[in-house]
Amino acid sequence: MSRRYSFADVVVVISLLAIGIYSPFLLPKATDATSLVVRTPDGAQSLSMLRDQVVEVEGKSGLTVIEVESGKARILRSSCPNNHRHEIEGWISQAGAALACVPNQIVLDLSGDGFDSVMR
Ligand SMILES: [Zn+2]
Repeated sequence: MSRRYSFADVVVVISLLAIGIYSPFLLPKATDATSLVVRTPDGAQSLSMLRDQVVEVEGKSGLTVIEVESGKARILRSSCPNNHRHEIEGWISQAGAALACVPNQIVLDLSGDGFDSVMR
């Protein structure tokens, strides 16, 4: 009695397929971000991650100060109550990472794809 595939073969194939399907999630690409999208109540703007800079943006309850240094970004100061989260999350540098100051309605998104794909 001969089957074309043994049970073991099927298990191997399914495992390989599963790994193939899920590997993007298991092994996220560690891509250095090249741009930082800053969303505020008034709209969005992009900053280059390739240039060190300190930028102030106007949030719902006051200024939020964003710092970019050596390819990393953080919320340096924010006029939200007690700077929750900003210290916890600290610096972000990988594409796909994000920071937010919720009371101030400021969201920072890092992108490795340049500005266009994010801004559309
Ligand atoms: Zn905040």
